[in-house]
Amino acid sequence: MSDDDFLLLNPGPVPLSESVRTAMDGEMVSHRSAEFEATYERAQDGLDEIFTASTLSGESTGEGTSLVLNGTATMGMEMAVSNLVGPDDEVVALVNGKFGRRFARIADRYAQVKRVEVEWGQSFDLDAVEEAVTDDTALVTVVHNETSTGLLNPVSAIGDITADHDALFVVDGVTSVGGDVFRIDDWGVDVAITDGQKALAAPPGISAIFVTDRAAAVARERNEASDGEGIPFYSDMAWHLRKAESHQTPFTSAVPLFRALAVAVEEIHEEGMPNRIERHRRQAKAFQEGFAALGLDPFPETEGPTVRSNTLTAMSLPESIRGDDSTAFFDAVKERNVSISGGQAHLGGDIFRVSNMGNLTPDQIARGVRTVGEALVD
Ligand code: PLP
Repeated sequence: MSDDDFLLLNPGPVPLSESVRTAMDGEMVSHRSAEFEATYERAQDGLDEIFTASTLSGESTGEGTSLVLNGTATMGMEMAVSNLVGPDDEVVALVNGKFGRRFARIADRYAQVKRVEVEWGQSFDLDAVEEAVTDDTALVTVVHNETSTGLLNPVSAIGDITADHDALFVVDGVTSVGGDVFRIDDWGVDVAITDGQKALAAPPGISAIFVTDRAAAVARERNEASDGEGIPFYSDMAWHLRKAESHQTPFTSAVPLFRALAVAVEEIHEEGMPNRIERHRRQAKAFQEGFAALGLDPFPETEGPTVRSNTLTAMSLPESIRGDDSTAFFDAVKERNVSISGGQAHLGGDIFRVSNMGNLTPDQIARGVRTVGEALVD
C-alpha cells in the first residue's frame, strides 16, 4: 500500500481484505437454499469460536449459540434487552460513554432502568455497582470496550457482582470481540453482542450475538408465557434461535453480507485468536506510544479498574487546537487520504480516535502516527 492509497482508521467500519470484498460479488441465492445454509453455518462456526475462545491460550470459555443478525450492533443490543426483560423488571445500566448510554436508552423502552453513571471516560466505582445491583435486579448491561472513549471496562468484576444476585449479564463486545480477550463463562456473560464492521473486519450492516443456554431458556420461556406479546417481531430471539438450528434467519437474509462474514471469520481462524489478540495489543501500544512521542496526552488519564483499549486509541488534542479550532487538524489528516474520527457528542473536537481493529499492517499503523504528526504541524 502506498501513501496515496486511502487508509481507513475509524473505529468502524474498518478496511476489508480482498477476499472479504470479493465474497460479496456473486449471484444471489435464496435464503432458504442449501447454499445459503452452508454460508450461515460457516459464519456460525467461526463466530462460536471467536465468542468463546478469545483468550491468549485459545481455550474455550463457554457454550451457546451464535446468531447472525441483519442489522448493526444496536439491533443485537435491543434484541438482548427486549427479549430478556419486561416492563416491571429492573435493569442496571452502567454508563461511562456513548454506547453505555445507548444501552440504558434501549432498556428505558422495555424495563425499569437504574443507571450507574460516571463521566464519560472515567472508571466505574465498583462499590457503587455493588450497591446498585440487588436481588431485585433482573439484568445488567455494560459495554466492554467503550468506543467513544477508548477504554476497557472491568467486565469480570462486574460479572461477579451480577452473578452474586443471579441477574442476567448482557455485554456489548462490539469493539472487543474478535480483537481482544473475551471470556463468556469466567465473566458470567449471558449474552454478548458484536458487529461485523469492527474487529471481525466484515462489512457494516450485519452483526452477531452469542446467546448462552441460560439466556436462551429465559427468552423461550418469556415468549411462550406471553405468546409473543411485548416481544419485538423482527428481533424475536426465540424465533431467531429456532431458525438458526437449520442455519437460517426468520426473514430474508442479507446474502452478500453473510458471505463476507463467513470469509472474515475464516480469516480470523487462520490467524488464530491468540495471535490476533497479541497483534491487536502490539498495534494499540504502537499507536499509544507513537502519539505520546508526538507530545500528545491520552484521553482520558483515568485511574481505577478501567484501562486503555487494545483495539482503538483516543488522544486529547492540544488545547490550542480543540473544539472549533480542530477543523484544520482533521482537514490536514483527510488531505493525506487518511480517515480518523473525532470525539462523539460533547467530546466533539477535543479528542481524536483511531482504530487498529481488523487486519492492519505495521506500515498502516506507522502511517497513522506519521499522518497525525504531520497534521499537527500543518
Ligand atoms: N456498541 C459499541 C461499543 C459501538 O462501538 C457501536 C458502534 O460504533 C455500537 C454499539 C453500535 O453500532 P451501530 O451504531 O452500528 O448499531
